[in-house]
Amino acid sequence: MLDYHVHTPLCKHATGTPAAMVRAAVAKGLQEVAFLDHLTLPPLPTDHSMTLKDIPFYLNTIRELTHAWEGRIRVLAGLEIDFHPDCLPTLRTVCNSFDLDIVGGSVHFVNGHNIASRSGIKTWAALPPLPLYHAYIDTMEALVDADLCDMLCHLDLMDKFAPLLSHEQRQEIDSRMNNLLSLVARKQTVVEVNGSGMDQPKGHPYPSPSLLAACHEKGIPVTLSSDAHNPFSVGRHNQALLGYIRQAGYKAITKFYGRKPHSMILTEGGQP
Ligand SMILES: [Zn+2]
Ligand SMILES: [Zn+2]
Repeated sequence: MLDYHVHTPLCKHATGTPAAMVRAAVAKGLQEVAFLDHLTLPPLPTDHSMTLKDIPFYLNTIRELTHAWEGRIRVLAGLEIDFHPDCLPTLRTVCNSFDLDIVGGSVHFVNGHNIASRSGIKTWAALPPLPLYHAYIDTMEALVDADLCDMLCHLDLMDKFAPLLSHEQRQEIDSRMNNLLSLVARKQTVVEVNGSGMDQPKGHPYPSPSLLAACHEKGIPVTLSSDAHNPFSVGRHNQALLGYIRQAGYKAITKFYGRKPHSMILTEGGQP
């Protein structure tokens, strides 16, 4: 089994050394773990991210672990890039300049608000929800269209703290999400099934079971992730995530080699 999204303390809101994250992954019987630490650049707030200057040190640290653990677990080096149109040239340079195994793309900030943090609750309470939803989906579309990332992180993160939409509002957003999924399918960007949502009030992974089924219908490949910010959380919920993935109709998940996706058939027991 694998976990394609774990963090390091370089992002300033994770605990446990990278070595401790790998030991946790081995202890949980994982065959692969991918570091996907935050890279958030100005004009977005950068207080929960490594800096551009940190990247060489970060990648050296992960590559040392890759070599040290060779034969026992595959340790992949990647980034979770935060998309903003103004960051596009720098992000493109970063993604093309460094030796990365995988690039994850995320949208945490919508119209300057962090929709994923606790402060997101206040944002949603203070503002009408539809413009925020539309801005989130616009940014996701621009991210996918830019061909920057191999994997989309927490596809429906905007639902995390959002109020319940009316039937008509939900239909409007579902229709836009459907268009986004068509774009993702056309680009064959992988979508992560991220277990961190299971620890949130809504209690299911990102994407939600219905959105995951829609991903399967469109032929969008998926993989598993914990979004762990500490060693305890590495690979957590993997069995449940496999259940969601199989329930949605998937027969395979995706692994990455040098930013190239490879399909891996799931066996009857759910293990690849
Ligand atoms: Zn994230
Ligand atoms: Zn993350």
